[in-house]
Amino acid sequence: MVRIAVYPGTFDPVTNGHIDILERASGLFDEIIIGIAEDNYKNTLFTLEERLYLMKESVGHLKNVSVESFTGLSVEYAVKKNAQALLRGLRVVSDFEYEMQVATINKHLNDDLETVFLMTSDRYAFLSSSIVKQVASLGGRVTGLVPPLVEESLKRKYGLSD
Ligand code: ADP
Repeated sequence: MVRIAVYPGTFDPVTNGHIDILERASGLFDEIIIGIAEDNYKNTLFTLEERLYLMKESVGHLKNVSVESFTGLSVEYAVKKNAQALLRGLRVVSDFEYEMQVATINKHLNDDLETVFLMTSDRYAFLSSSIVKQVASLGGRVTGLVPPLVEESLKRKYGLSD
């Protein structure tokens, strides 16, 4: 059986925390499909096309990882992709309650699908797309927190490129 996981998220933008989860999970599954949610009731800084491009460029080194966008429920998208699992990352305690809620409702929606959590590496435990955007918008350096291309794109978005 081919083991397929869908990694759903907004990825606005992708951070090294996301990449870390993907690098570690890529050895556990035959295939990982990153599902970039078109709009999660969130106002995104990057358009869907930009988020897709930044993610594709950032995971090129992972041969069994592909990137797509999706709309609607992640469980339905996962079924369409013949996935057995949804992949999620867990950071600090504050993630736990929300992720537990989402995993529980997803189990209710589809009992055959499992949510697999990977715990973040400690250096990324407090890293989020939102904190990166906040720092970058104020002209702070985000080197090492996001892939270099994302760092450049953030600078351009906020009109801070050299
Ligand atoms: P969502 O809008 O679905 O929360 P995100 O793009 O914020 O989408 O995150 C997608 C997934 O990646 C979530 O499971 C989130 O917990 C996880 N994640 C985000 N940042 C990190 C990080 N620094 N380390 C590990 N996992 C992370």
